[in-house]
Amino acid sequence: IRLSRSGNRPRVLALANQKGGVGKTTTAINLGTALAAIGERVLIVDLDPQGNASTGLGIDRKSRKISTYNVLVGEASLHDTVQETAVPRLSVAPSTLDLLGVELEIAAERDRVHRLRDAVGALHAHQQATGEEGFTYVLVDCPPSLNLLTINAMVAAGAVLVPLQCEFFALEGLSQLLKTVEQVRSALNPSLSIHGIVLTMFDPRNNLSNQVVQDVRQFMGDKVYDTVIPRNVRVSEAPSYGKPVLLYDLKCTGSQAYLKLASEIIQRERALQAG
Ligand code: ADP
Ligand code: MG
Repeated sequence: IRLSRSGNRPRVLALANQKGGVGKTTTAINLGTALAAIGERVLIVDLDPQGNASTGLGIDRKSRKISTYNVLVGEASLHDTVQETAVPRLSVAPSTLDLLGVELEIAAERDRVHRLRDAVGALHAHQQATGEEGFTYVLVDCPPSLNLLTINAMVAAGAVLVPLQCEFFALEGLSQLLKTVEQVRSALNPSLSIHGIVLTMFDPRNNLSNQVVQDVRQFMGDKVYDTVIPRNVRVSEAPSYGKPVLLYDLKCTGSQAYLKLASEIIQRERALQAG
């Protein structure tokens, strides 16, 4: 049975890891595409000033008139930023470099950590009021830092999805990240949980890569998704065409892994809903 979410608030997942280059943006784009491909209505919120998720989804800088920056400073609603992508049912709220300054700009505001949560709530209310079909998933692509932007994502989210690269220092920094999640949970967002850890850029021929998978599974147990994302050149080529890898080369190992991850995530969601 397909559980209908119409009328429900979207499930908000924050893709966070303060390390750069671990696959946050790649996972936001391609997990978002895979979820959309299996029928979900997905919004990717780009909270990284670099805007790689926006670029990778084919939104060039000129066409980012209204961005997540405008939302966080209170000048625009999230609804105003939403742009459709080439993928049916997948939209993006793009970012611009202006986001670099947002932390200072809203530092003195009482609701500074709740800006994204309130924006997602307002978007949902707007869609309910207008009868527009709502999003079932909102994926927030965080910057490589545990800054106010990432805190906004964790306050808005129901759960955090952590990409970890299969490399020597994979676990370094993870305890700091988990501590931050715990702090946000206890002080700001009691319903926040860790959705799962996704191992990325796995190279089966590399002993180290295999060792990292073992270590992370031992340390984090069943929080680690069964699906591991392989290192695949098609995955890294796709963004330069402004396309998710699933549109660029559906058959490649990277696309197939992201489809598998999407169905695993939906299964976890059903298990959670069933209690
Ligand atoms: P983050 O958002 O955490 O900084 P990215 O998603 O931008 O990380 O990934 C960092 C780099 O690694 C990018 O150049 C991306 O294309 C590449 N990359 C990510 N995942 C894969 C993969 N599965 N196979 C090959 N290259 C990858
Ligand atoms: Mg990124």
